Amino acid sequence: MQKLEKLEISQKTDVNILRRTTFSPRVKNAQIKLICGPMFSGKTTHLLKAVNQERSAGKKVFVFKPKLDDRYAEEAVVSHDKNQVEAYPVSKSVEILDYFMNADVVAIDEVQFFDEQIVEVCQKVANSGKTVIAAGLDMDYLGRPFGQIPMLLTVADDIKKLNSVCTFCSGKARFSHRISQDNGIVVLGEKDKYVPLCRSCYHELKDK
Ligand SMILES: [Zn+2]
Repeated sequence: MQKLEKLEISQKTDVNILRRTTFSPRVKNAQIKLICGPMFSGKTTHLLKAVNQERSAGKKVFVFKPKLDDRYAEEAVVSHDKNQVEAYPVSKSVEILDYFMNADVVAIDEVQFFDEQIVEVCQKVANSGKTVIAAGLDMDYLGRPFGQIPMLLTVADDIKKLNSVCTFCSGKARFSHRISQDNGIVVLGEKDKYVPLCRSCYHELKDK
């Protein structure tokens, strides 16, 4: 009974705090948007489209990418269909906090390669009233959750999961199967090293 009374008092207090709080519309509209899927599913194309839409609406967009990804261009994010935007390569996710205050929108490509602080960084940016749009691989070549993607899926306000087309059966592909002999988790490459596969074809091939 005593416990119940205490609970009632704290609930009343919480309601009063809510009544006293005024919300800024800028902060209210801030979001973390996550675009994820396997290789060749158009993640970067989606990210660049979102960046261009925000810029067309007059928003200042900063684009970041992990420093290790130099497949196409050192200071650009380039999609497989050869669209590109200028991007800041960063070694550590906290470096994003040095730049983001002058932006309205922060876009991050290959977010699976960032260190674990990327989750806190994305939340800090969004909590300050800015939109975060991040794109990344949700599973590694062994079908395991990649990097901080599971945590980002939890904190994201908006999630877009993309599929590719299975190389064998043309079904919906969710797996990035590695066809080269490299064993490291991070092996950068294109269609010479990876093929998109559906769940059935992936497991059929893996179990052989
Ligand atoms: Zn298949």
